[in-house]
Amino acid sequence: MTTAQTPDVQPTPLALLLLGRGADPASERGVDCPGDLPSPSDPGLVERARAAKERLGEKVFVLGHHYQRDEVIEFADVTGDSFKLARDAAARPQAEYIVFCGVHFMAESADILTSDAQQVILPDLAAGCSMADMATAEQVEECWDALTAAGVAEDTVPVSYMNSSADIKAFTGRHGGTICTSSNARRALEWAFDSSGGGGRRVLFLPDQHLGRNTAIRDLGMAPEDCVVYNPHRPNGGLTPEQLRDARMILWRGHCSVHGRFSLDSVREVRERIPGVNVLVHPECRHEVVAAADRVGSTEYIIRALEEAPAGSKWAIGTELNLVRRLAKRYAPEGKEVVFLDRTVCFCSTMNRIDLPHLVRSLESLAEGRVVNRITVDEETAHWARVALERMLALP
Ligand code: SF4
Repeated sequence: MTTAQTPDVQPTPLALLLLGRGADPASERGVDCPGDLPSPSDPGLVERARAAKERLGEKVFVLGHHYQRDEVIEFADVTGDSFKLARDAAARPQAEYIVFCGVHFMAESADILTSDAQQVILPDLAAGCSMADMATAEQVEECWDALTAAGVAEDTVPVSYMNSSADIKAFTGRHGGTICTSSNARRALEWAFDSSGGGGRRVLFLPDQHLGRNTAIRDLGMAPEDCVVYNPHRPNGGLTPEQLRDARMILWRGHCSVHGRFSLDSVREVRERIPGVNVLVHPECRHEVVAAADRVGSTEYIIRALEEAPAGSKWAIGTELNLVRRLAKRYAPEGKEVVFLDRTVCFCSTMNRIDLPHLVRSLESLAEGRVVNRITVDEETAHWARVALERMLALP
């Protein structure tokens, strides 16, 4: 369980709902961040951010997730995916303040992995992740009860994607499971099924059904029938005890609202529009999209693939638009054509909540000695989440 501390403003109950505590994911959009913010039209914002960061010096370390806006990335000391950023923060013990430009579960992970002397700040409390919100602690406990009643819990190993709340990570640690990222999901599943690892007969994969299914089918050679989907909104997940028993992968019914948008039509359309294009997608995309793509990989993989791509090559990328636009701009001078896989413009709306006014407010408050929007994870939750994260770090 986490708390967000805001000494100068009181977040509204609605804002707290966005932080993965029983929220309706549909409610993520259109909610104002509480508190006073500099005006977005203030022409001095860049200078104000620069001045506040300079005043803070080594005391502050700004992390920028790949899906953040350019105006925010400009102030990031490091960029990366959520796990890399949390580790970067832990490797900077002299930084008292970690400003995490990303979403809530990422700030939680940073708090779990950094020392007690470091404080993690999320510039906008409304920057939650709709996927993480799709698996609440209560729902996952109910699921485990259903698995226990069906007699399958004891040989089921939970594997949770990094994109989950601290509560879910702690659940995973308590029940002998591991965390995974989109880069090491294959190794995590192999470990879970291995008798010298998790030793499971089946895996409960949380909360992204697509990453779980894609990894099971593409990397472990399972059949689609080996996977069942647990729907937390139906009694016993909508599954019979036999279905639970026979399954090798019990996939939580969660998904990323950004990657879930790409469809087979997007792939067909881009192939027609750009002959010779390479379709490269993130494994959070639906299975049919992944199956139709030329290459599949994490954000770090996508960045590397474009870096290594020959001049004159053409790429349609199925991941968040801020990153795709940045890569398109970076590689255009080298003659690499990079386009967004979908014709419709679509950012991650919650990632996009972190903008220059929010960053300026965080930095200026810190420079004045006030910590706004601190994210903390309680010790018990942090302990078990760390157990699951350490299992991931020990993966062969
Ligand atoms: S891109 Fe998807 S998984 Fe990432 S923060 Fe946004 S909703 Fe969550």
